[in-house]
Amino acid sequence: MLLDLSKIGKAKVIEGIPASPGIVIGKAFIMDTERPHVSHETISEEDVEREVEHFMAAVQDTRELLVRLRAKLADELGESHARMFDAHLMMLDDSMIIDGTLKRIRESSCRASLALTETMGQIIKVMGRTKDEYLRERVYDIKDIERRLLMHLLGRKDGCLADLEDEVIIVAHDLPATVTASMRRERVKGFVTEVGGRTSHASIMARSLEIPAVVGTHSVTDAVDQGEMVIVDGITGMLVHDFDDAVLEYYRDRQREYKEFERQLLLVKDYPAVTRDGHKFALWANIELAEEVDSAKAHGAEGIGLFRTEYLFIARDDIPSEDEQYEAYRRAVETMAPGPVIIRTLDVGGDKFIAGGEHQREANPYLGWRGIRYCLGQPNLFIRQLKAILRASAHGEARIMFPMVSSLNEVRDAKQVLEAARQQLISEGKEFAESIDVGIMIETPAAVVLAKLFAEEVDFFSIGSNDLIQYTLAVDRGNDRVAYLYDQYHPAVLSLIRDTVQAARKQKIPVGLCGEMAGDPLAVLLLIGLGLDELSMSPLVLPEVKSIIRSTSYRSARKTVAQALDMATGSEVRRHLQQIFKKAYPEISATEMIE
Ligand code: PEP
Ligand code: MG
Repeated sequence: MLLDLSKIGKAKVIEGIPASPGIVIGKAFIMDTERPHVSHETISEEDVEREVEHFMAAVQDTRELLVRLRAKLADELGESHARMFDAHLMMLDDSMIIDGTLKRIRESSCRASLALTETMGQIIKVMGRTKDEYLRERVYDIKDIERRLLMHLLGRKDGCLADLEDEVIIVAHDLPATVTASMRRERVKGFVTEVGGRTSHASIMARSLEIPAVVGTHSVTDAVDQGEMVIVDGITGMLVHDFDDAVLEYYRDRQREYKEFERQLLLVKDYPAVTRDGHKFALWANIELAEEVDSAKAHGAEGIGLFRTEYLFIARDDIPSEDEQYEAYRRAVETMAPGPVIIRTLDVGGDKFIAGGEHQREANPYLGWRGIRYCLGQPNLFIRQLKAILRASAHGEARIMFPMVSSLNEVRDAKQVLEAARQQLISEGKEFAESIDVGIMIETPAAVVLAKLFAEEVDFFSIGSNDLIQYTLAVDRGNDRVAYLYDQYHPAVLSLIRDTVQAARKQKIPVGLCGEMAGDPLAVLLLIGLGLDELSMSPLVLPEVKSIIRSTSYRSARKTVAQALDMATGSEVRRHLQQIFKKAYPEISATEMIE
């Protein structure tokens, strides 16, 4: 399903990043996540205690709202999503916030709203100065709770998404996780935000709710009017507005086509991912939360190739206990059984930080204390997670995977910690599987160069192409300015994937790929031709990838790879793949194919 840009020539288009696929047409609801205006007037002595009561009532109302939203979210998406509200609820009991505001109302005879913003402003200032990255990230939560309290104080509607009457498309600067959670699912048809990337929380939420979404549009809230009809194209990553009937008709057709396309794709969900000449590939899913295993299975995943465990640790004020982690891993493993679940150990650092993480500001966080380096530096946290994974292995096929490995010592050290975790469980009399596969992510050029040696130490490889590309090409994966250099078809990247597969073959261990590239229809021919055994991707794109594999032959994929490996630039490779696709799969909705 190719987009014909000439058909929307007269409409206004705002480009962003496709975060969740699908097309929706509807009224824009511009969401005010900004802080409301605060009055600086002073109040009379007699009114001071009334203002104090007014503030405490707002705290109570906010608490009730959050408790309600938490319960709703636990019900709809599970406990791990709901837990993000706990930190906010705790703030409503925080004496710095509550007593600080009350003191200001009394001392300055000012409105509660002003006392609150001044108190919060001071807390934010202190937190903004801290070297702890996690605490600096929490400023966002404080601003969110401040906004909610102000809404109640000023008599404005909070949780407006929860009260939506019409079906709308949310247009916002950003969608804090707690706001996304408060929407009435059936009324929100799509999201568009100005900030964020494919892995930001709003994007993950959109995919798990299966709502089309576009993020990172920069200027959308100014460009679109409240109530204006808009089209969200989550396949190409565009918001279209100010359009005529012809454009509307064009998109209605595209929407119908896409729905039919999805329906057809889902027909293949229970068939194996086997090429016409009989080569079978494992198609697995990437998940962020245990609850997403259901969606993975519904889209035909036979295993979980990457369980990103960071989300259990993020948006909370403490480290999850061994039991809590065990419950989450066990849930994923049991739901996926008999299929395997590759549980990646905590991969924080880079752009993800957790409570108590002792993260100092780093000049180059992606080259800093990240992934396996971080876990080896926090042995108590690491052993706790490994024990939880081992215990989950008693309930199905759990595998352990270490991220961001660059030297053999790291793997050996990590395996020693794993052994210590085993010994602790034995002495505690807790059960775990007798044998558990241990693998590594291949994400650094060093890991590829030494892949032969690594292959002797582990049971499997999974290529993390998102990071492998950034480290190979020296291009920050989140930096817009250099995004044009971030090229998955760069000959250096393709050679490294080829070398990794060869090293794995020699040692007879399986090798998969779990970066975004695995779910890119245009890249599929290359990846299967390169000889990967397993591809792991967002569940939503899995049926599309499967249908491509089923309609191609391994022989022709090998030929495509041989041609691509002979090319000198990534753009040549891309053009070559586009040509093959246009001929063979005109109906495929590859974002990559839009010229
Ligand atoms: C990768 O780097 O390709 C990967 C899958 O890991 P993450 O995106 O979580 O860094
Ligand atoms: Mg990675």
